[in-house]
Amino acid sequence: MVLGVDVGGTKVAVAAVEGVTATHAAEHPTVTASADALLDGVEHVVRSVVAAAGEPQAIGVGVPSQIDFATGTVETSVNIPLTGVPLREELGRRFGVPVFVDNDANCAALAEAHIVGEDDLVMLTLGTGVGGGIVNGGLTFRGAHGLGAELGHMTINPDGPPCPGNCPNRGCLEAYCSGQALERDATELATDKPDSPLASRLGPDGKVSGREVVAAADEGDPDALLLMENFARMLGIGIANYVNVFEPARLAIGGGLSRASHLFLDRAIREAEARALPALWKRVSVQLAEGGADAGVIGAGLLAALEIERDRDTEAAKATTTKGIE
Ligand SMILES: [Zn+2]
Repeated sequence: MVLGVDVGGTKVAVAAVEGVTATHAAEHPTVTASADALLDGVEHVVRSVVAAAGEPQAIGVGVPSQIDFATGTVETSVNIPLTGVPLREELGRRFGVPVFVDNDANCAALAEAHIVGEDDLVMLTLGTGVGGGIVNGGLTFRGAHGLGAELGHMTINPDGPPCPGNCPNRGCLEAYCSGQALERDATELATDKPDSPLASRLGPDGKVSGREVVAAADEGDPDALLLMENFARMLGIGIANYVNVFEPARLAIGGGLSRASHLFLDRAIREAEARALPALWKRVSVQLAEGGADAGVIGAGLLAALEIERDRDTEAAKATTTKGIE
């Protein structure tokens, strides 16, 4: 048994994980006052789950941050105060068992691959931003240091709007297919057309949220439908790019905005089909993610289970090599 820990911007979720099943789940609001306070909060939830489920062999942790995978150090973290924190070492010291740390979108992709039983999967997480994860041959693809698979920062339009992420580029997928992008376009439109239905949805912060755009589109507002059409078209271009590069068996769409998939998914698939290489396109299935709310915890647990298995294989290989020399 391993533990999965999903550190989100608002809550820390922990569960005992075996295979793709999570039990003894517990959660706690994310404390963002300081790194130490946040880690104390994580430790508190982990200890409560250990008390109920028993001592784990290892702990996997997913965080909404860029991670140097080998050291488990947080490179950058926008919403939680962990930048520069050697998370793997710090949590390993607190718990006395092996700890592995990865980006939360990588964990979500790993969970999805195991839940649907596909070894080659690309997952896009559409929310406030756009996260992504790639599972290749059953293993998470991370690049040389663990910072790769930033699928939201693939350029879709070189002259597009500034990327809303922590990113110097313009026209990234995240600049089109995120809650922040919908909010930007809807707010601009509402300001230009003060009598429009979208203008009536301006919030007290002077913005039309992505959620309001979805609600307006559901009511048939032509402006909101046009925004969703653009969202869908750009998503389709992104999907075609990922299919051409990775040739996954399955491309999964998850995240909060996937609940509005009736407003964009069919259109995105038509766009992708018109652009992807046909031999690759006919072999891929584009689907909504099947993992539920606990996919982040399950993915973190799967990460820990795969890493201790790999460490064991490495040890076994070393033992065999030594014997061979003797
Ligand atoms: Zn970007």
